Amino acid sequence: MLDAHFARQGERQPPYNAHMRFLSLQAPIAAFLLPVCLGFSGFFTQSSQAQAASPANSSPASGLPAASAEDRALASAIFKELIEINTTDTPLGNVTTATAAMQKRFLDAGFPAKDVQLLGPDARKQNLVVRFRAPGTSSEKPVLFLCHMDVVEALRSDWSTDPFEFVVKDGYYYGRGTQDMKNSDAALVATFLRLHREGWTPKRDLILALTADEEGGKFNGADWLVRQHRDLVDAAYVINPDAGGVELDHGRAVVADVEATEKVYSDFQIAAVDRGGHSSLPRPDNAIYELTTALNKLAAYVFPFEMNEVTRTYFTNLAGQETGQTAVDIRAILGSPPDMAAAERLGAEPSFNANFRTTCVATRLAAGHANNALPQTAQANVNCRIFPGHSPEEIRKQLIEIFADPKLSVKYVSDAGDVFDTAPERKAMVPPAPIPEVFGPLTRLTEAIWPGVPVTPVMENGASDSIYFAQAGIPCYGYSAIALERDDERAHGRDERLPVDSYWKSLDFFYSFSKALGGD
Ligand SMILES: [Zn+2]
Repeated sequence: MLDAHFARQGERQPPYNAHMRFLSLQAPIAAFLLPVCLGFSGFFTQSSQAQAASPANSSPASGLPAASAEDRALASAIFKELIEINTTDTPLGNVTTATAAMQKRFLDAGFPAKDVQLLGPDARKQNLVVRFRAPGTSSEKPVLFLCHMDVVEALRSDWSTDPFEFVVKDGYYYGRGTQDMKNSDAALVATFLRLHREGWTPKRDLILALTADEEGGKFNGADWLVRQHRDLVDAAYVINPDAGGVELDHGRAVVADVEATEKVYSDFQIAAVDRGGHSSLPRPDNAIYELTTALNKLAAYVFPFEMNEVTRTYFTNLAGQETGQTAVDIRAILGSPPDMAAAERLGAEPSFNANFRTTCVATRLAAGHANNALPQTAQANVNCRIFPGHSPEEIRKQLIEIFADPKLSVKYVSDAGDVFDTAPERKAMVPPAPIPEVFGPLTRLTEAIWPGVPVTPVMENGASDSIYFAQAGIPCYGYSAIALERDDERAHGRDERLPVDSYWKSLDFFYSFSKALGGD
C-alpha cells in the first residue's frame, strides 16, 4: 500500500495502522518509565486490571452470546470462499466474482432482489449493496457497514502457503485478506444472513456495502457509490471495519482504537519553468533555485494548530494516562486558548504534530535535462494531509501564499495522477463528538469481550474509504473488533493471518453490534 507513489486508497492497515500510530505516540514517553518489554500497558490503569485475554485458539470466543456451531460453519465457509477468490487489481483478480458470490448467498437466503444490488462502473469491479430492510417506514436513517472486497497482490513464491488458499494452521487462518479485510466482509455477510434467518427485523435499515478498489485500481467503489448512488448508501453514519481494533500484548488487550475521523489526502505539483541555456553561462534565474527556495519556505512553515471534538476527546483521555511534562503539555493544549509553547513541545513527536494540524511535505523532485544545461523545468510533489474542515483548494491557495512566487505553478494531482489547475472544494466534515448511539454499544460489547480495555476514539492521520463519506457529510467510525498481537501485523505482507479465536470474537461482536445499532 505505501509503496505506490500516489497511494491514497488502501493506505491504512486495519487495525494496525491506528495501533502503530498509537504506539508511536506512546513510545517516547514509555521509554523512561517502563522497560520496553512492558510496552505502554502500565499507562492504562483500567487495562492493568484487565483479565488476560483467552489464548488464540480457546473457546468460548467471547463474553457475548456466542454463535452456534452452525453459524460458525457458515461464517467459516464464507470466509474461505472469499479468501479463495482472487480480488487483486491484477489480470488474475476479479472483485465481481466475490461480490456476485455474496449476492447469490443473499438471494438464496430470501433477500428480495431489489435489496441485493450488484453495480459499478466496471465489469470486474462490481460492488454489492445489501439492504436489510426495516418493516414499514422507519423514521431513522439507515446504518451503513462499509467493507472493501479487494486485496493487495500476493505472490505464491513469497508465501509459505498459497495466499489464495484458506489454510487453517496452528490456531490461525492464513491467506491474503485474512486481516485486511475479508475477515470482516465474511463476518458481516454471515451476520446479516444469520439475523435474517432468525427472523430478526431491524427498526431502521441496515446496509452492507461490499466495494471494489480500496487498495488500488481506478474504480473505487465507495467513492463511486456516494457520487452515483447516494440514495442506496445514504446513512446516519458509517461503520467501517477497515480500521480500529484491539491491540494485544501477549494475549492481553491493551487498547481498543476507534477511528472517528481522518485527514484528507492531497497531492500538489509545484513547478518552475525557465528559458534554460548553456551551463557555462549561469544567470540568477534558475528553475531549480526557484523551486528549492519555495520548498524551503514550506519546510519552515507550520500550519495552524487545530482541534476537533475527536482529537479533543483523544487528548483528554491521553492526558489522564500520561505523566510528567507530557501530561502537563497535553492539558495546556486543551486549555482555552491552547498553549502554543506546549503544542510546539508536543509537536516534536510527529504523530502528535500530525494530529493537531494540516501537514504538507515535499515527497518527490524532478528537474533539469542535462548535466551541462541550465534547467528549463523543476518540479516537486508536495503531499498534504488536510485537517478535517478544510478543502484541498483552500490548501492549494495557502501553498501559493507560502511560496509567494507568482512564477511558480501550484496544481492539484488527483488520485489517478491527473493534474488540474485547481483542487476539489470538497472538505471532510468537521467530525461531531463521538456519537453515544455508536460508542455506547461499541464500548459495552468491547468491554464484554475484553474486560477493562480502554476504548479510545482517534483521528487517523492516514486515509481510508471512510473519507468519501466524511466528505459527503456522513460521520464514519472505523472499528474491526479484531484483536491482534502488536507484533503480528501482516496486512499487505507475506503470510497474512488471523487468529481463529479473533475471528469468532469479531463475529460475536458484529452480531450483537448490528442488533444494537438496528434498534434492539
Ligand atoms: Zn483495508
